[in-house]
Amino acid sequence: MKNIRNFCIIAHIDHGKSTLADRLLEFTHTITDREKQDQLLDSMDLERERGITIKSHAIQMEYPFNNENYILNLIDTPGHVDFSYEVSRSIAACEGALLIVDAAQSIQAQTISNLYLALEHDLEIIPVLNKIDLPSANPEEVSDDIVNLLGCDYDDIIHASGKTGFGVDKILEAIVQRVPAPKGDVNAPLQALIFDSVYNSYRGVETYFRVINGEIKKGQAIQFMATKKQYFAEEVGTLKLKQKPKDSIKAGDVGYLITGIKTASEVKVGDTIIDPKNPSEERIEGFEDVKPMVFAGIYPVDTEDYEELRSSMEKLQLNDASLVYSPESSAALGFGFRCGFLGMLHLEIIQERLEREFDMTVITTVPNVSYHAYTNKEPDKMILVNNPSDLPDPSSLNRVEEPFIKASIITKSDFIGAVMSLCIEKRGEITNQNYLTPERVELTFDMPLSEIVFDFYDRLKTVSKGYASFDYHPLGFRASKLVRVDVLINSQPVDALSALLHADNAYYIGKKMCEKLRELIPRQQFDIPIQAAIGSKIISRETIKALRKDVTAKCYGGDISRKRKLLEKQKKGKKRMRQVGNVEIPQQAFMAVLKLN
Ligand code: GDP
Ligand code: MG
Repeated sequence: MKNIRNFCIIAHIDHGKSTLADRLLEFTHTITDREKQDQLLDSMDLERERGITIKSHAIQMEYPFNNENYILNLIDTPGHVDFSYEVSRSIAACEGALLIVDAAQSIQAQTISNLYLALEHDLEIIPVLNKIDLPSANPEEVSDDIVNLLGCDYDDIIHASGKTGFGVDKILEAIVQRVPAPKGDVNAPLQALIFDSVYNSYRGVETYFRVINGEIKKGQAIQFMATKKQYFAEEVGTLKLKQKPKDSIKAGDVGYLITGIKTASEVKVGDTIIDPKNPSEERIEGFEDVKPMVFAGIYPVDTEDYEELRSSMEKLQLNDASLVYSPESSAALGFGFRCGFLGMLHLEIIQERLEREFDMTVITTVPNVSYHAYTNKEPDKMILVNNPSDLPDPSSLNRVEEPFIKASIITKSDFIGAVMSLCIEKRGEITNQNYLTPERVELTFDMPLSEIVFDFYDRLKTVSKGYASFDYHPLGFRASKLVRVDVLINSQPVDALSALLHADNAYYIGKKMCEKLRELIPRQQFDIPIQAAIGSKIISRETIKALRKDVTAKCYGGDISRKRKLLEKQKKGKKRMRQVGNVEIPQQAFMAVLKLN
């Protein structure tokens, strides 16, 4: 155990985490040239394109130092707040963290939020000033910032470049010398923390764990504390580039476990693995069942594709335990599914995976959070509303509650005014203002969750010029004046466009929605009225004027290839459209309510 080091890399996006991880793997000969591939740890196509690590992975390196052989377990962490629970579990499995800071960009929002997570778990922090090769690098000033943030010495900061490989040897030495060896008792009852799981269609779910005490032996019975289910450890091993089966994984070390489980939802990140024959009573702190935060309907563009969509959803859920769904039907869109997601990024990823991996063309409806409604008839019976159309009739409604969060935002003092106005606009109430340094301030707000799951991040990024870190935790449900705003297109109510809104904003947002829909819905041969209504009361109206000219008319009949191009473009644009009555509604229209600014 004294020669094991467990560490993670934390950084703001694009500061060079993946590139540096590759260099560490090369330097320790964990990967050969033949296996070399840029940014090896980001294995999903989608991750590569989006430049974010969605699923965390772990990999083991061997590193000889001072005539001893060391085992270094690198545990990769996802970088987006939708997956923050996974970040915190990965961090909980480590004793140290490389804190990477881009020498040209300096400390950014995620640098700070990830650092705080790491400090909460008492990790040893090794600051790395990366991209030192860049002509725009500013090592002196950025070092000042790091020293201010961490209270470390200048000598503690390692200068490095993932591009040239400079400093990689120093980083490896620092991991051995500064990160503490794991503590734990091999002879105590088994306790292992699950920090990740990956679905493999051949072998079932692979569970990644860190053994805190005891050991996991191949062939033994194991039990998951949260689900209480027992399994048989068919295979255990360490994670090299390929899995390496072993007879046992002991306290302090990191490994994988295969039990033949076929559904991802049976393995819960954050859960503790124990030995049912010699059970440890204690679970490793802080297991949370991750709950979906955002709900939206997913419908096939072609109603005939419903069965195919159902089987695609089933397959997706097998390997993404955080996706939940149930069948629903919409008067406008027919049969589809109400789905729950961790956040908006998760929603986008699911939509993209459906399209790429399953070749489905789908429409996603206006997303919403979960509400609690109570009727006058049974004022104590909570009705869970995951879909605006499930809200009981306003006349029978006693009250509605919506989820609130405590939001903590760290920003530069220059942006306090802008961040405050944004939060107040989003129905936030400031509860605390705390200067961390003269330049950095932490603002705390109570806010409705619905206001932050939608376009909050983008707005916050804009008003703070990217310099704001943001984190939140739930406060529970609070009564709120909510009304359902319905949209009628060509006098037909389109249930999939309904939204639950705070009464004070409903008129304004209803009006904006109509304006936005007028822009987004293509003109047709007839006038199309667009109306917003609360109950039977129309609160706003716009009209899409009938189309007069032939679209190709402006090509003057001359250039046939240009004409064809135009038609092709139209056909493509049509793909994500849904016929509702005799009007075609494009996908963007369903998201319009989220992007009114
Ligand atoms: P991540 O988002 O933190 O994983 O960052 P990546 O490793 O994907 O790197 C982001 C971008 O910075 C990529 O275009 C890399 O090629 C580039 N990059 C990473 N490390 C260095 C470095 O040390 N020097 C230079 N010049 N570019 C780098
Ligand atoms: Mg990366």
